[in-house]
Amino acid sequence: MNVDEKVSDIYQLVLRRNAGEPEFHQAVSEVLDSLKVVLNKDPYYGDYGLVQRLCEPERQLIFRVPWVDDQGQVHVNRGFRVQFNSVLGPYKGGLRFHPSVNLGIIKFLGFEQIFKNSLTGLPIGGGKGGSDFDPKGRSDLEIMRFCQSFMTELQRHIGDKIDVPAGDIGVGGREIGYMFGQFRRIAGRHESGVLTGKGLTWGGSLVRTEATGYGCVYFTQKMMEDQGDSISGAKVIVSGSGNVAIYATEKAQQLGATVVGFSDSSGYVSTPNGVDVELLKEIKEVRRARVDEYVKEAEGATFHPRGNVWELEADVALPCATQNELNGEDAKTLISNGVRYVAEGANMPSTPEAVEVFRASGIHFAPGKAANAGGVATSALEMQQNASRDSWSFEYTDSRLQGIMENIFLSCANTAREYDHENDYVTGANIAGFKKVANAMLAQGVI
Ligand code: NDP
Repeated sequence: MNVDEKVSDIYQLVLRRNAGEPEFHQAVSEVLDSLKVVLNKDPYYGDYGLVQRLCEPERQLIFRVPWVDDQGQVHVNRGFRVQFNSVLGPYKGGLRFHPSVNLGIIKFLGFEQIFKNSLTGLPIGGGKGGSDFDPKGRSDLEIMRFCQSFMTELQRHIGDKIDVPAGDIGVGGREIGYMFGQFRRIAGRHESGVLTGKGLTWGGSLVRTEATGYGCVYFTQKMMEDQGDSISGAKVIVSGSGNVAIYATEKAQQLGATVVGFSDSSGYVSTPNGVDVELLKEIKEVRRARVDEYVKEAEGATFHPRGNVWELEADVALPCATQNELNGEDAKTLISNGVRYVAEGANMPSTPEAVEVFRASGIHFAPGKAANAGGVATSALEMQQNASRDSWSFEYTDSRLQGIMENIFLSCANTAREYDHENDYVTGANIAGFKKVANAMLAQGVI
Protein backbone atom coordinates (compact mmCIF):
# COMPACT_ATOMS: atom_id res chain seq x y z
CA MET A 1 0.00 0.00 0.00
CA ASN A 2 1.47 3.38 -0.90
CA VAL A 3 1.45 6.37 1.47
CA ASP A 4 -1.58 8.03 -0.14
CA GLU A 5 -3.64 4.85 0.26
CA LYS A 6 -2.44 4.31 3.82
CA VAL A 7 -3.34 7.87 4.86
CA SER A 8 -6.69 7.67 3.09
CA ASP A 9 -7.53 4.43 4.99
CA ILE A 10 -6.70 6.10 8.30
CA TYR A 11 -8.83 9.12 7.43
CA GLN A 12 -11.79 6.92 6.40
CA LEU A 13 -11.56 5.21 9.79
CA VAL A 14 -11.56 8.60 11.55
CA LEU A 15 -14.68 9.61 9.55
CA ARG A 16 -16.51 6.36 10.40
CA ARG A 17 -15.61 6.40 14.07
CA ASN A 18 -16.33 10.09 14.65
CA ALA A 19 -19.49 10.66 12.61
CA GLY A 20 -21.00 14.14 12.78
CA GLU A 21 -17.82 15.86 13.99
CA PRO A 22 -16.81 18.05 11.02
CA GLU A 23 -14.35 20.26 12.91
CA PHE A 24 -12.46 17.20 14.14
CA HIS A 25 -12.38 15.78 10.61
CA GLN A 26 -11.06 19.11 9.32
CA ALA A 27 -8.21 19.22 11.85
CA VAL A 28 -7.20 15.59 11.24
CA SER A 29 -7.40 15.97 7.47
CA GLU A 30 -4.99 18.93 7.46
CA VAL A 31 -2.43 17.14 9.64
CA LEU A 32 -2.65 13.87 7.68
CA ASP A 33 -2.14 15.79 4.47
CA SER A 34 1.15 17.23 5.79
CA LEU A 35 2.25 13.85 7.16
CA LYS A 36 2.30 12.27 3.70
CA VAL A 37 5.56 14.11 3.13
CA VAL A 38 7.10 12.59 6.27
CA LEU A 39 5.76 9.09 5.67
CA ASN A 40 7.29 9.11 2.19
CA LYS A 41 10.68 10.20 3.51
CA ASP A 42 10.69 8.32 6.85
CA PRO A 43 8.38 5.27 6.33
CA TYR A 44 8.92 3.88 9.86
CA TYR A 45 6.53 6.57 11.18
CA GLY A 46 3.80 4.58 9.41
CA ASP A 47 4.50 1.44 11.53
CA TYR A 48 3.10 0.28 14.89
CA GLY A 49 -0.29 1.90 14.23
CA LEU A 50 1.37 5.18 15.18
CA VAL A 51 -0.83 7.51 13.14
CA GLN A 52 -4.04 5.60 14.02
CA ARG A 53 -3.15 5.84 17.74
CA LEU A 54 -2.45 9.55 17.35
CA CYS A 55 -5.98 10.13 15.95
CA GLU A 56 -7.71 8.33 18.82
CA PRO A 57 -7.97 10.18 22.18
CA GLU A 58 -6.57 8.31 25.17
CA ARG A 59 -9.75 9.17 27.11
CA GLN A 60 -13.00 11.13 26.48
CA LEU A 61 -15.12 12.27 29.40
CA ILE A 62 -18.68 13.58 29.10
CA PHE A 63 -20.58 14.60 32.21
CA ARG A 64 -23.73 16.34 33.47
CA VAL A 65 -23.41 19.85 34.90
CA PRO A 66 -26.57 20.86 36.79
CA TRP A 67 -26.78 24.37 38.27
CA VAL A 68 -29.37 26.80 39.64
CA ASP A 69 -29.92 30.29 38.20
CA ASP A 70 -30.74 33.46 40.17
CA GLN A 71 -34.49 32.79 39.79
CA GLY A 72 -34.18 29.30 41.28
CA GLN A 73 -34.52 27.50 37.91
CA VAL A 74 -32.44 24.37 37.38
CA HIS A 75 -30.35 24.14 34.18
CA VAL A 76 -28.48 21.11 32.90
CA ASN A 77 -25.42 21.59 30.71
CA ARG A 78 -22.98 19.08 29.31
CA GLY A 79 -19.32 19.05 30.34
CA PHE A 80 -16.42 17.56 28.36
CA ARG A 81 -12.76 16.75 28.86
CA VAL A 82 -10.84 14.99 26.10
CA GLN A 83 -7.46 13.71 27.27
CA PHE A 84 -5.91 13.22 23.88
CA ASN A 85 -2.24 12.38 24.24
CA SER A 86 0.06 12.34 27.29
CA VAL A 87 3.23 10.98 25.73
CA LEU A 88 5.18 14.23 26.31
CA GLY A 89 3.71 15.16 29.71
CA PRO A 90 0.43 15.72 31.60
CA TYR A 91 -2.53 16.64 29.39
CA LYS A 92 -2.63 20.42 28.96
CA GLY A 93 -5.22 22.56 27.21
CA GLY A 94 -8.00 25.03 27.91
CA LEU A 95 -11.66 24.87 28.88
CA ARG A 96 -14.19 26.54 26.57
CA PHE A 97 -17.63 27.70 27.73
CA HIS A 98 -19.72 28.53 24.66
CA PRO A 99 -23.14 27.31 23.43
CA SER A 100 -21.54 25.87 20.27
CA VAL A 101 -19.38 23.42 22.26
CA ASN A 102 -19.86 19.73 21.49
CA LEU A 103 -17.64 16.64 21.54
CA GLY A 104 -16.37 17.19 17.97
CA ILE A 105 -15.22 20.73 18.72
CA ILE A 106 -13.43 19.63 21.88
CA LYS A 107 -11.77 16.80 19.95
CA PHE A 108 -10.56 19.13 17.19
CA LEU A 109 -9.11 21.47 19.80
CA GLY A 110 -7.53 18.59 21.75
CA PHE A 111 -5.99 17.11 18.61
CA GLU A 112 -4.47 20.48 17.57
CA GLN A 113 -3.20 20.91 21.12
CA ILE A 114 -0.96 17.83 20.86
CA PHE A 115 1.12 19.37 18.07
CA LYS A 116 1.00 22.89 19.49
CA ASN A 117 2.27 21.73 22.86
CA SER A 118 4.98 19.70 21.19
CA LEU A 119 6.11 22.80 19.25
CA THR A 120 6.62 24.76 22.48
CA GLY A 121 9.50 22.42 23.35
CA LEU A 122 8.02 22.00 26.87
CA PRO A 123 6.97 18.67 28.46
CA ILE A 124 3.17 18.88 28.06
CA GLY A 125 0.65 16.53 26.48
CA GLY A 126 -2.54 17.56 24.67
CA GLY A 127 -6.09 17.84 26.02
CA LYS A 128 -9.10 20.16 25.89
CA GLY A 129 -12.46 20.54 27.61
CA GLY A 130 -15.43 22.76 28.18
CA SER A 131 -19.18 22.99 28.20
CA ASP A 132 -22.11 24.16 26.08
CA PHE A 133 -22.89 26.64 28.89
CA ASP A 134 -23.41 30.23 27.64
CA PRO A 135 -21.88 32.73 30.09
CA LYS A 136 -23.28 35.77 28.21
CA GLY A 137 -25.74 37.76 30.32
CA ARG A 138 -25.24 35.56 33.41
CA SER A 139 -24.62 37.16 36.80
CA ASP A 140 -21.39 36.60 38.74
CA LEU A 141 -23.16 34.25 41.13
CA GLU A 142 -24.62 32.20 38.29
CA ILE A 143 -21.14 31.90 36.75
CA MET A 144 -19.80 30.85 40.15
CA ARG A 145 -22.46 28.17 40.66
CA PHE A 146 -21.88 26.81 37.17
CA CYS A 147 -18.09 26.69 37.63
CA GLN A 148 -18.47 24.94 40.99
CA SER A 149 -20.76 22.30 39.53
CA PHE A 150 -18.44 21.79 36.53
CA MET A 151 -15.42 21.34 38.81
CA THR A 152 -17.28 19.00 41.18
CA GLU A 153 -17.08 16.37 38.44
CA LEU A 154 -13.89 17.47 36.64
CA GLN A 155 -11.79 17.35 39.83
CA ARG A 156 -11.79 13.53 39.74
CA HIS A 157 -9.85 13.56 36.49
CA ILE A 158 -7.23 16.33 36.87
CA GLY A 159 -4.06 17.01 38.87
CA ASP A 160 -0.66 18.60 38.42
CA LYS A 161 0.82 15.31 37.13
CA ILE A 162 -2.34 14.18 35.31
CA ASP A 163 -4.16 16.94 33.46
CA VAL A 164 -3.86 20.72 33.88
CA PRO A 165 -6.73 22.76 32.31
CA ALA A 166 -6.61 26.51 31.58
CA GLY A 167 -8.88 29.14 29.96
CA ASP A 168 -10.23 29.48 26.42
CA ILE A 169 -13.34 31.15 24.95
CA GLY A 170 -15.64 32.16 27.82
CA VAL A 171 -13.15 31.12 30.50
CA GLY A 172 -10.88 33.83 31.92
CA GLY A 173 -9.46 34.73 35.33
CA ARG A 174 -12.88 34.92 37.02
CA GLU A 175 -13.91 31.41 35.96
CA ILE A 176 -10.49 29.89 36.76
CA GLY A 177 -10.80 31.45 40.24
CA TYR A 178 -14.20 29.86 40.94
CA MET A 179 -13.02 26.49 39.61
CA PHE A 180 -9.77 26.58 41.58
CA GLY A 181 -11.70 27.40 44.77
CA GLN A 182 -14.00 24.43 44.28
CA PHE A 183 -11.07 22.11 43.52
CA ARG A 184 -9.28 23.24 46.67
CA ARG A 185 -12.38 22.72 48.76
CA ILE A 186 -13.11 19.19 47.50
CA ALA A 187 -9.48 18.03 47.33
CA GLY A 188 -8.64 19.57 50.70
CA ARG A 189 -5.32 20.89 49.46
CA HIS A 190 -3.88 23.95 47.70
CA GLU A 191 -2.52 22.18 44.61
CA SER A 192 -1.52 25.24 42.63
CA GLY A 193 -0.35 23.22 39.61
CA VAL A 194 -3.84 21.85 38.87
CA LEU A 195 -5.01 24.82 36.78
CA THR A 196 -3.21 27.64 35.00
CA GLY A 197 -4.33 31.20 34.41
CA LYS A 198 -4.67 31.69 38.18
CA GLY A 199 -4.67 35.04 40.01
CA LEU A 200 -1.25 36.51 40.69
CA THR A 201 -1.47 36.23 44.49
CA TRP A 202 -2.37 32.52 44.50
CA GLY A 203 -0.03 30.84 42.05
CA GLY A 204 -0.63 32.69 38.78
CA SER A 205 2.11 33.86 36.43
CA LEU A 206 2.77 37.33 35.13
CA VAL A 207 2.33 37.50 31.31
CA ARG A 208 -0.15 34.55 31.21
CA THR A 209 -3.05 36.95 30.49
CA GLU A 210 -1.13 38.61 27.65
CA ALA A 211 0.68 35.50 26.41
CA THR A 212 -1.42 34.23 23.49
CA GLY A 213 -1.89 37.65 21.89
CA TYR A 214 1.69 38.77 22.55
CA GLY A 215 3.03 35.43 21.33
CA CYS A 216 1.06 35.65 18.11
CA VAL A 217 2.57 39.06 17.41
CA TYR A 218 6.11 37.88 18.30
CA PHE A 219 5.64 35.08 15.76
CA THR A 220 4.33 37.55 13.16
CA GLN A 221 7.26 39.89 13.78
CA LYS A 222 9.74 37.05 13.21
CA MET A 223 7.90 35.88 10.07
CA MET A 224 7.98 39.43 8.64
CA GLU A 225 11.65 39.98 9.52
CA ASP A 226 12.48 36.73 7.77
CA GLN A 227 11.10 38.32 4.56
CA GLY A 228 12.98 41.58 5.16
CA ASP A 229 9.77 43.30 6.35
CA SER A 230 8.84 44.96 9.63
CA ILE A 231 5.67 45.04 11.72
CA SER A 232 6.50 48.62 12.64
CA GLY A 233 4.38 50.87 10.41
CA ALA A 234 2.15 47.98 9.26
CA LYS A 235 -1.66 48.11 9.27
CA VAL A 236 -3.15 45.15 11.12
CA ILE A 237 -6.70 43.72 11.27
CA VAL A 238 -7.54 41.78 14.44
CA SER A 239 -10.79 39.81 14.64
CA GLY A 240 -12.53 39.25 17.97
CA SER A 241 -12.14 41.39 21.06
CA GLY A 242 -11.53 38.79 23.73
CA ASN A 243 -8.37 37.83 25.55
CA VAL A 244 -6.29 36.93 22.49
CA ALA A 245 -7.49 39.86 20.36
CA ILE A 246 -6.93 42.51 23.04
CA TYR A 247 -3.33 41.51 23.76
CA ALA A 248 -2.46 40.95 20.10
CA THR A 249 -3.69 44.51 19.53
CA GLU A 250 -1.68 45.83 22.47
CA LYS A 251 1.60 44.19 21.38
CA ALA A 252 1.18 45.05 17.68
CA GLN A 253 0.70 48.72 18.56
CA GLN A 254 3.61 48.65 21.06
CA LEU A 255 5.77 47.49 18.15
CA GLY A 256 4.66 50.41 15.98
CA ALA A 257 1.78 48.89 14.00
CA THR A 258 -1.70 50.44 13.66
CA VAL A 259 -4.61 48.12 14.38
CA VAL A 260 -7.29 49.26 11.93
CA GLY A 261 -10.19 47.12 13.14
CA PHE A 262 -11.49 44.53 15.61
CA SER A 263 -14.82 42.74 16.09
CA ASP A 264 -17.14 40.54 18.12
CA SER A 265 -20.10 38.44 17.05
CA SER A 266 -22.29 41.58 16.75
CA GLY A 267 -20.12 43.28 14.06
CA TYR A 268 -16.82 45.10 13.64
CA VAL A 269 -15.27 48.43 14.58
CA SER A 270 -13.12 50.30 12.07
CA THR A 271 -10.27 52.20 13.76
CA PRO A 272 -8.19 53.92 11.06
CA ASN A 273 -6.19 55.82 13.70
CA GLY A 274 -5.48 52.76 15.82
CA VAL A 275 -7.12 51.26 18.90
CA ASP A 276 -7.30 52.83 22.36
CA VAL A 277 -6.35 49.58 24.10
CA GLU A 278 -7.09 50.81 27.63
CA LEU A 279 -10.64 51.75 26.58
CA LEU A 280 -11.10 48.39 24.85
CA LYS A 281 -9.94 46.56 28.00
CA GLU A 282 -12.31 48.62 30.15
CA ILE A 283 -15.26 47.79 27.86
CA LYS A 284 -14.54 44.08 27.36
CA GLU A 285 -12.79 43.04 30.59
CA VAL A 286 -14.50 45.25 33.16
CA ARG A 287 -17.92 46.18 31.76
CA ARG A 288 -18.20 42.95 29.70
CA ALA A 289 -20.08 45.00 27.08
CA ARG A 290 -20.38 44.73 23.26
CA VAL A 291 -17.98 46.44 20.81
CA ASP A 292 -20.49 49.12 19.72
CA GLU A 293 -19.87 50.74 23.11
CA TYR A 294 -16.28 51.48 22.01
CA VAL A 295 -17.32 53.90 19.23
CA LYS A 296 -19.35 56.01 21.67
CA GLU A 297 -16.14 56.92 23.46
CA ALA A 298 -13.36 56.70 20.84
CA GLU A 299 -12.86 59.42 18.26
CA GLY A 300 -12.74 58.36 14.60
CA ALA A 301 -14.00 54.81 15.20
CA THR A 302 -17.12 53.49 13.43
CA PHE A 303 -19.26 50.44 14.19
CA HIS A 304 -20.46 48.15 11.39
CA PRO A 305 -23.25 45.93 12.74
CA ARG A 306 -23.05 42.38 11.30
CA GLY A 307 -20.22 43.67 9.04
CA ASN A 308 -17.23 41.63 7.96
CA VAL A 309 -13.94 42.81 9.48
CA TRP A 310 -11.98 41.15 6.62
CA GLU A 311 -13.17 43.91 4.26
CA LEU A 312 -10.69 46.39 5.73
CA GLU A 313 -7.43 47.31 3.98
CA ALA A 314 -4.28 46.14 5.77
CA ASP A 315 -0.86 44.47 5.51
CA VAL A 316 -1.40 41.88 8.23
CA ALA A 317 -4.46 39.91 9.40
CA LEU A 318 -4.65 38.25 12.82
CA PRO A 319 -7.83 36.14 13.17
CA CYS A 320 -8.29 35.91 16.96
CA ALA A 321 -12.00 34.99 17.48
CA THR A 322 -13.03 31.42 16.70
CA GLN A 323 -12.86 28.45 14.29
CA ASN A 324 -13.86 28.87 10.63
CA GLU A 325 -14.40 32.64 10.93
CA LEU A 326 -12.45 33.38 7.73
CA ASN A 327 -13.59 31.64 4.51
CA GLY A 328 -12.22 31.40 0.95
CA GLU A 329 -13.99 34.57 -0.18
CA ASP A 330 -12.65 36.49 2.82
CA ALA A 331 -9.16 35.25 2.00
CA LYS A 332 -9.47 36.58 -1.58
CA THR A 333 -10.78 39.92 -0.27
CA LEU A 334 -7.85 40.22 2.14
CA ILE A 335 -5.33 39.55 -0.60
CA SER A 336 -6.91 42.03 -3.00
CA ASN A 337 -6.87 44.61 -0.19
CA GLY A 338 -3.13 44.21 0.31
CA VAL A 339 -2.69 41.66 3.11
CA ARG A 340 0.61 39.77 2.85
CA TYR A 341 0.85 38.11 6.27
CA VAL A 342 -1.75 36.12 8.19
CA ALA A 343 -1.12 34.63 11.64
CA GLU A 344 -3.86 32.73 13.47
CA GLY A 345 -4.35 33.82 17.08
CA ALA A 346 -7.47 31.63 17.28
CA ASN A 347 -7.62 27.88 16.73
CA MET A 348 -8.38 26.95 13.09
CA PRO A 349 -10.06 30.30 12.24
CA SER A 350 -9.37 29.86 8.51
CA THR A 351 -11.46 27.34 6.57
CA PRO A 352 -9.58 24.82 4.38
CA GLU A 353 -10.60 26.92 1.33
CA ALA A 354 -9.10 30.04 2.90
CA VAL A 355 -5.86 28.22 3.71
CA GLU A 356 -5.73 26.98 0.13
CA VAL A 357 -6.16 30.55 -1.19
CA PHE A 358 -3.39 31.84 1.11
CA ARG A 359 -0.97 29.05 0.18
CA ALA A 360 -1.68 29.30 -3.56
CA SER A 361 -1.13 33.06 -3.59
CA GLY A 362 2.16 32.97 -1.70
CA ILE A 363 0.80 34.84 1.34
CA HIS A 364 2.85 34.10 4.46
CA PHE A 365 0.41 32.12 6.56
CA ALA A 366 1.07 30.97 10.15
CA PRO A 367 -1.33 28.30 11.47
CA GLY A 368 -2.77 28.61 14.98
CA LYS A 369 -0.95 25.61 16.36
CA ALA A 370 2.29 27.56 15.85
CA ALA A 371 1.25 31.22 16.10
CA ASN A 372 -0.99 30.93 19.18
CA ALA A 373 1.21 28.52 21.17
CA GLY A 374 2.40 31.36 23.44
CA GLY A 375 -0.60 30.90 25.75
CA VAL A 376 0.00 27.28 26.53
CA ALA A 377 3.77 27.84 26.65
CA THR A 378 3.30 30.48 29.36
CA SER A 379 0.91 28.12 31.15
CA ALA A 380 3.77 25.63 31.23
CA LEU A 381 5.98 28.42 32.65
CA GLU A 382 3.28 28.95 35.30
CA MET A 383 3.52 25.22 36.12
CA GLN A 384 7.31 25.57 36.45
CA GLN A 385 6.87 28.46 38.88
CA ASN A 386 4.27 26.48 40.88
CA ALA A 387 6.56 23.43 41.08
CA SER A 388 9.44 25.54 42.43
CA ARG A 389 7.15 27.79 44.54
CA ASP A 390 8.61 30.80 42.79
CA SER A 391 7.25 33.77 40.85
CA TRP A 392 9.15 35.36 38.05
CA SER A 393 9.22 39.01 36.97
CA PHE A 394 7.20 40.27 33.99
CA GLU A 395 10.37 41.00 32.02
CA TYR A 396 11.88 37.57 32.58
CA THR A 397 8.65 35.69 31.76
CA ASP A 398 8.08 37.84 28.67
CA SER A 399 11.64 37.17 27.49
CA ARG A 400 11.04 33.39 27.91
CA LEU A 401 7.82 33.76 25.86
CA GLN A 402 9.65 35.67 23.13
CA GLY A 403 12.39 33.06 23.00
CA ILE A 404 9.82 30.25 22.73
CA MET A 405 7.93 31.99 19.89
CA GLU A 406 11.16 32.63 17.98
CA ASN A 407 12.09 28.96 18.35
CA ILE A 408 8.66 27.87 17.14
CA PHE A 409 9.03 30.10 14.09
CA LEU A 410 12.50 28.71 13.33
CA SER A 411 11.34 25.15 13.87
CA CYS A 412 8.41 25.62 11.41
CA ALA A 413 10.54 27.44 8.84
CA ASN A 414 13.51 25.03 9.04
CA THR A 415 11.31 21.91 8.95
CA ALA A 416 9.41 23.27 5.94
CA ARG A 417 12.73 23.85 4.18
CA GLU A 418 14.06 20.40 5.13
CA TYR A 419 10.99 18.79 3.52
CA ASP A 420 11.18 21.01 0.38
CA HIS A 421 8.20 23.20 1.34
CA GLU A 422 10.00 26.52 1.87
CA ASN A 423 7.81 29.17 3.60
CA ASP A 424 4.96 26.64 4.05
CA TYR A 425 4.51 27.03 7.80
CA VAL A 426 1.47 24.70 7.85
CA THR A 427 3.56 21.77 6.67
CA GLY A 428 6.49 22.90 8.85
CA ALA A 429 4.35 23.13 12.01
CA ASN A 430 2.56 19.84 11.45
CA ILE A 431 5.75 17.90 10.75
CA ALA A 432 7.84 19.48 13.52
CA GLY A 433 5.01 18.97 16.06
CA PHE A 434 4.39 15.42 14.87
CA LYS A 435 7.98 14.15 14.89
CA LYS A 436 8.62 14.89 18.54
CA VAL A 437 5.37 13.23 19.60
CA ALA A 438 5.90 10.29 17.23
CA ASN A 439 9.46 9.65 18.44
CA ALA A 440 8.25 9.62 22.05
CA MET A 441 5.37 7.27 21.16
CA LEU A 442 7.77 4.89 19.41
CA ALA A 443 10.13 5.00 22.40
CA GLN A 444 7.31 4.27 24.89
CA GLY A 445 5.85 1.28 23.01
CA VAL A 446 2.35 0.40 21.81
CA ILE A 447 0.11 1.76 24.57
P1 NDP B 1 -12.62 35.11 24.55
O1 NDP B 1 -13.84 34.44 25.04
O2 NDP B 1 -11.84 35.97 25.45
O3 NDP B 1 -12.95 35.97 23.24
C1 NDP B 1 -13.53 35.39 22.12
C2 NDP B 1 -13.81 36.49 21.11
O4 NDP B 1 -14.20 35.87 19.90
C3 NDP B 1 -14.93 37.41 21.51
O5 NDP B 1 -14.69 38.69 21.02
C4 NDP B 1 -16.13 36.77 20.83
O6 NDP B 1 -17.19 37.67 20.55
C5 NDP B 1 -15.51 36.30 19.55
N1 NDP B 1 -16.29 35.15 19.04
C6 NDP B 1 -16.48 33.95 19.63
N2 NDP B 1 -17.26 33.17 18.89
C7 NDP B 1 -17.59 33.89 17.82
C8 NDP B 1 -18.36 33.64 16.67
N3 NDP B 1 -19.00 32.47 16.51
N4 NDP B 1 -18.44 34.63 15.75
C9 NDP B 1 -17.78 35.80 15.92
N5 NDP B 1 -17.04 36.10 16.98
C10 NDP B 1 -16.94 35.16 17.92
O7 NDP B 1 -11.71 33.92 23.96
P2 NDP B 1 -10.15 33.91 23.69
O8 NDP B 1 -9.71 35.25 23.22
O9 NDP B 1 -9.50 33.28 24.84
O10 NDP B 1 -10.04 32.86 22.49
C11 NDP B 1 -10.15 33.25 21.12
C12 NDP B 1 -9.56 32.17 20.24
O11 NDP B 1 -8.18 31.95 20.59
C13 NDP B 1 -10.22 30.79 20.33
O12 NDP B 1 -10.15 30.14 19.09
C14 NDP B 1 -9.31 30.06 21.32
O13 NDP B 1 -9.42 28.65 21.19
C15 NDP B 1 -7.97 30.58 20.88
N6 NDP B 1 -6.90 30.46 21.86
C16 NDP B 1 -7.01 31.04 23.09
C17 NDP B 1 -5.98 30.94 24.00
C18 NDP B 1 -5.99 31.66 25.30
O14 NDP B 1 -4.95 31.66 25.98
N7 NDP B 1 -7.08 32.30 25.71
C19 NDP B 1 -4.77 30.12 23.71
C20 NDP B 1 -4.73 29.63 22.34
C21 NDP B 1 -5.77 29.77 21.48
P3 NDP B 1 -18.57 37.55 21.36
O15 NDP B 1 -18.24 38.06 22.73
O16 NDP B 1 -19.51 38.37 20.60
O17 NDP B 1 -18.93 36.06 21.36
